[in-house]
Amino acid sequence: MKTNQNTRHKYQKEILDFCKKKHLTVENILEKLKKKNPEVGQATVYRTIKFLNESKKLNKIFHQNKNFYETQENFHGHLVDEKNKIKDFDISEEFLKVMEKKIGKKIKSLDLKVFI
Ligand SMILES: [Zn+2]
Repeated sequence: MKTNQNTRHKYQKEILDFCKKKHLTVENILEKLKKKNPEVGQATVYRTIKFLNESKKLNKIFHQNKNFYETQENFHGHLVDEKNKIKDFDISEEFLKVMEKKIGKKIKSLDLKVFI
């Protein structure tokens, strides 16, 4: 089934809403989207997530052999707890400044995972 542009935008918006302050797998997103739009196909969801990731609206986090997606927010790190759950933690301006000074360049993005 061909998806028209309005439907595509609707899916994009809903996916971004689901992934706000959360870390979801493709399966999680598919399940949520299907609840609201039973007609949506798996290929469409994969395509939309890929598009959102490439246009830097969705972040991809690789953890335990799975990809997790979240909306692109300010710099933050990921804390992996004893139960292997991913949580966000804030990265301070000071920390970034110290890192930039060490590197001698401006930091564009950050991929930091901390295990406890
Ligand atoms: Zn996060």
